[in-house]
Amino acid sequence: MWSWWQRETQRWAQYDQHTTNQLEGAFYAQQLQINVSASTPRGTLHYSIDLLRMVQINQTTRFERPVKRDPLAGSATTGVWEYEDLGSWHQYGFNESEHLTSVQQLAFPKTVLWMIRHGRAQSYEIDFAQMTQTNTYTRFSRRIRLHQAPTASTSGRSGAALAASIFAVVGAETSAAASSQSSSVDEILKNAVDCTKDATDADQCPVCIEGFSANKPALRLPKCKGGHYIHGECWKDCWSNNRKSCPTCNVSYALRIGTQPQGSMTTNEIRQDIPGFPAGSGTIQMTFSFPNGIQGPQHENPGHPYTGTTRVGYLPGTTEGREVLALLRRAFDQHLIFKVGTSITTQQPNTTCWGSIHIKTSLRGGPYGYPDPNYLNRVKEELRAFDIK
Ligand SMILES: [Zn+2]
Ligand SMILES: [Zn+2]
Repeated sequence: MWSWWQRETQRWAQYDQHTTNQLEGAFYAQQLQINVSASTPRGTLHYSIDLLRMVQINQTTRFERPVKRDPLAGSATTGVWEYEDLGSWHQYGFNESEHLTSVQQLAFPKTVLWMIRHGRAQSYEIDFAQMTQTNTYTRFSRRIRLHQAPTASTSGRSGAALAASIFAVVGAETSAAASSQSSSVDEILKNAVDCTKDATDADQCPVCIEGFSANKPALRLPKCKGGHYIHGECWKDCWSNNRKSCPTCNVSYALRIGTQPQGSMTTNEIRQDIPGFPAGSGTIQMTFSFPNGIQGPQHENPGHPYTGTTRVGYLPGTTEGREVLALLRRAFDQHLIFKVGTSITTQQPNTTCWGSIHIKTSLRGGPYGYPDPNYLNRVKEELRAFDIK
């Protein structure tokens, strides 16, 4: 009735009776950790079991595997545990419910439930003080409760019904948090590096703590430094549950969104060359237009009107100029180029004005014009500060 998740066979493997007795003893003694040994064809292996995180840790490789406890049927029944999804309550599987009851009776503050989804184990932290279930890595949280009147049908649930309820938990979680930013998570995955050939047997995905294979490649996310990897599907789960940083190193992948009001950015080409760039390269003219509007909660004076503006900027029609144009377009889409505030030039408050990214507004000389040999490098530097590169 204690088992560990064997990802190679995609099923829970039971511990032998001796180990089960040891584990059950440690569980009731409220130990947080216990060391066990197992005889295998490769010799005796030594593990420690973390009873709070419910993982088995190989003492040599530090490789972790999920562990679960299925209490003796009817040993602890006082009710049925339920979780909330979109305002209605759903029952946990019988074994999970029984386990939660015994953990709570022992006054453990927390435990971890492992659930299998599409062959991947996911962990959920159960907090009895807060009465919440939290996906350990995405941190998506939902309420739980102990429903005191068990129904007769509960304990007779078939394995299939149990499995269905497990899928319901994680499936609902994904759909409830369906994000409109799927294009950016795809963009991140497109730029992730497949490191499956570098991954060792000891490497594991931080979300499902399973290993990597050709079918489940080890991806290094674009901004992550060093050798830690994640499954693409697990990263998507993080993202759709609003965790937009790497679960291992915490580097953020969230887009920075500024306070620029609603407006438009259009471009057209003009034949005139910009001083300092090759003859015939021409000029890209960018036109930014903002109508008047009412300030939102992200602005200085919410509820007050602001005035719009129309501004024009210029880039050389060279390869590098077009690269910068693409970056500026992204910055515009992330609301970073303008802001609502007090104009430095006119001192007028509550108006649409430039933010901290410098745009050349003149084709002739002066601080806002050309020639300026370092301008493209400088503006790329400014954009990099917003993670646009
Ligand atoms: Zn994974
Ligand atoms: Zn990372």
